[in-house]
Amino acid sequence: MGKLLIVGTVAFDAIETPFGKTDKILGGAATFIGLAASQFDVDAAIVSVVGEDFPKAYLDLLEDRNIDISALEVVKGGKTFFWKGKYHNDLNSRDTLVTELNVLADFKPLVPNNYKDSDVVMLGNLHPNIQMSVIDQMEKRPKIIILDTMNFWMDHTLPELTEVVKKIDVLTINDEEARQLTGEYSLVKAAQKIFQMGPDYVVIKKGEHGALLFHEEQVFFAPALPLEDVFDPTGAGDTFAGGFSGYLAASEDVSFDNLKKAVIHGSNLASFSVEKFGTERMLDLGRDEINSRLHQFKALTQFEIELQ
Ligand code: AMP
Repeated sequence: MGKLLIVGTVAFDAIETPFGKTDKILGGAATFIGLAASQFDVDAAIVSVVGEDFPKAYLDLLEDRNIDISALEVVKGGKTFFWKGKYHNDLNSRDTLVTELNVLADFKPLVPNNYKDSDVVMLGNLHPNIQMSVIDQMEKRPKIIILDTMNFWMDHTLPELTEVVKKIDVLTINDEEARQLTGEYSLVKAAQKIFQMGPDYVVIKKGEHGALLFHEEQVFFAPALPLEDVFDPTGAGDTFAGGFSGYLAASEDVSFDNLKKAVIHGSNLASFSVEKFGTERMLDLGRDEINSRLHQFKALTQFEIELQ
């Protein structure tokens, strides 16, 4: 069993989609990553911060799934990171209405000693200086460092983000953000520009249109499963990242071929996450239904063709 270190927000989200809206519910990048990764046999820990307003029941949810939360700091008198978003009718695009950093603004992450030799480090979406501090605290170079980010950090902290991107192996990013980061419309050209910034692998997530994995001259594509009901895409990217990093940590293999499988596992788990609001679907997800959907994935992409 490999060790997986996760950093990212643990948050309150308020979400509006064409199908309804929620008040403050459990959210955050590290939350979705942890819940997805816990579907694999990994030894996972979350480094993050919440305020005193964060319900103990939410912390228990993570602990119940064997996620080590000893480095999830609870700030006395502090308020938890809050994000509010509204989706457009196509569900592929959204507006951020509120981002309150609250306790995240002064957070100094502390990697637990027993995770300083983690095999896989998953730097989820949050301030790039926090992502960098986690890398700096590692005692051994992890086998693979994966980073996810979003437009908010490109808009506000681009120089810091550029520095941390130099140190990573895999950047996972959505199509719109890849275009913003590189100024290239073509995703192939965008991936090449990102290679020049540091990473050897780039995953570009395209929502309901699947995900692309780039490495040198090679490209691998995983579709998104066509679903009858999509209620809330929030956290799909993070769930993908959790499945991707969780599978890599559990299999202890970071070859390109295994990264392809990790993309499938990430896409598979993300397909569940969007079926209910927030983390709800990830909380009642069983391994049998995960496996049966993997079969559907395989059937969706397999074909025989006569080639000359
Ligand atoms: P995703 O839909 O995968 O992009 O992730 C949505 C999650 O990211 C929500 O649960 C939010 O709490 C969290 N989030 C939103 N904005 C930020 C931000 N600027 N930094 C870190 N996490 C964020």
